[in-house]
Amino acid sequence: MKGIWVLGDQLSAAQAALAAAEPASPRVLLLESTSSARARRCHRQKLVLVWSAMRHFAAELAVAGWTVDHRQVENFRAGLAAWIAEHGITELHLMEPAERPFRASIVAAVEAMGAGAPRLVWHASNAFLWSRNDFAAWAHPYKQLRMELFYREGRRRFGVLMDGEGQPLGGQWNFDQANRKAPPRGLKGPEPLWFEPDAITADVIAKVERLADDLEAGGGPRLPGDARSFRWAVTREQALAVLKHFIATRLDGFGPYQDAMVSGEPTLWHALLSPYLNLGLLQPLEVIRRLEQAGRERRSPLAGLEGVIRQILGWREYTHGLYWWFGADYTASNHFGANGPLPDWLERLGGSGMACMDTVLGELESSGYAHHIQRLMVLANYGLIAGLDPQSFTAWFQRMFIDGYDWVMQTNVLGMGLFADGGRLASKPYAASGSYINRMSTYCKGCRYDVKQRSGPDACPFNALYWDFLARHQESLRRNPRMALVMKQLEKLPDEELAAIRTTAAGLRKL
Ligand SMILES: Cc1cc2nc3c(=O)[nH]c(=O)nc-3n(C[C@H](O)[C@H](O)[C@H](O)COP(=O)(O)OP(=O)(O)OC[C@H]3O[C@@H](n4cnc5c(N)ncnc54)[C@H](O)[C@@H]3O)c2cc1C
Ligand code: SF4
Repeated sequence: MKGIWVLGDQLSAAQAALAAAEPASPRVLLLESTSSARARRCHRQKLVLVWSAMRHFAAELAVAGWTVDHRQVENFRAGLAAWIAEHGITELHLMEPAERPFRASIVAAVEAMGAGAPRLVWHASNAFLWSRNDFAAWAHPYKQLRMELFYREGRRRFGVLMDGEGQPLGGQWNFDQANRKAPPRGLKGPEPLWFEPDAITADVIAKVERLADDLEAGGGPRLPGDARSFRWAVTREQALAVLKHFIATRLDGFGPYQDAMVSGEPTLWHALLSPYLNLGLLQPLEVIRRLEQAGRERRSPLAGLEGVIRQILGWREYTHGLYWWFGADYTASNHFGANGPLPDWLERLGGSGMACMDTVLGELESSGYAHHIQRLMVLANYGLIAGLDPQSFTAWFQRMFIDGYDWVMQTNVLGMGLFADGGRLASKPYAASGSYINRMSTYCKGCRYDVKQRSGPDACPFNALYWDFLARHQESLRRNPRMALVMKQLEKLPDEELAAIRTTAAGLRKL
């Protein structure tokens, strides 16, 4: 008997293992396993999203004629073994998982079944535009990989935003410079599209709350996040509505304030599409095509249209391709030898005393989401300059974010955010002092720290930690030509001032 196991982030009728079969023949399995949720302590909304989307998808497959077994189990190994024995499954089909560790767990679980183990049949993943082999073929000749070259190749290869004569639409590949405006006073983004939980989602929310209560009753730590404020889409139909809403209300304004951060405006013009793309509810190429078509029809500003397409066709595909290209060792990268423990306020999602940090953590608590610049220039920047242990910080990101998965976290957190890979992904560390946050956000006005001060009890922690970071790693940073300017500024700091900064930073790093 043939069976297909659909993993929790493969919720598409077009996914490779389903696409290779007919509804009438194999049984389809979806496993909702509690033990990993318990062990990992993920954000409650992430659990609600994945479990509710799985239940909805199982119901949709059944309507389409598939024989579906949706099982709630304690751990996936026992659940899988029981299903295989119950239905005499001799051939188990799966689409390749996006995450390396999970593939290894599946192989181990099947091997452990001994004589009753089914034959494993893997189907190459079609969840990304670039297959792992195609990415490797592209990457192979380069000594130093750069996103911009990859993105241009993607534009040509998939014929996106091209003028018909092999040239980029508008005569330019990249409009980034137009997309970095600081927020003017009173900047307000359009309302996002949220959904009231239906009966299935309400049931999952209750389950997650029970799980959280049990954990706490057993003396365990709090499960982060607030499940009751869950408003994410959980079906393909809803995810398509979010895409449509983005096109109608946000696409034209996407460009200019991409890097802005505003108190009380957690989403601005961002697309809010990553949870759905990462679960398989939306396919990257369909999103890109719809954006391009709508943008051309509506004559959307090219800078914004190109900007959002670059995120999906460029960054998303690039980070996934690199995850597989760099190999399993990448996980252990620690270029700066950072080993600082994570401050308690990260786990509590609040209470740092820094207005920027507490705003972002508060938004994360209530939705599991923060936008790119909040992730990069507040959270990851702090981790970089404070010298937090990169592996613990990456694991924290993966647990806390609604769209967090191993494949996207490794490159974004270790590579882009923490420069732990020594520059295999980014050409320089994204380290910044409080002045960047002050320029690009509204946070500093309400902060108890003074963004102009570099040392002392009232100094903005980002300032002290930034200069201390440059001083601690000056030897390696001096070798990077893109750091030349700031290293010159460091040299100009009077010794006394630098000493005061470093004392302040040392105090902060102990917190
Ligand atoms: C430290 C750090 C951690 C991150 N963690 C995650 C994560 O767990 N999951 C995740 O999907 N993305 C992650 N990103 C990338 C990016 O921040 C999010 O994809 C984006 O913020 C999601 O929100 P949005 O859908 O509103 O995106 P928008 O800003 O509107 O962008 C549109 C889409 O582009 C894609 N995209 C943009 N940038 C990236 C990128 N660097 N890598 C991959 N895809 C990208 C996403 O699919 C996103 O939905 C992280 C970035 C950093 C710097
Ligand atoms: S002063 Fe410093 S800590 Fe406070 S909000 Fe601004 S950047 Fe953040």
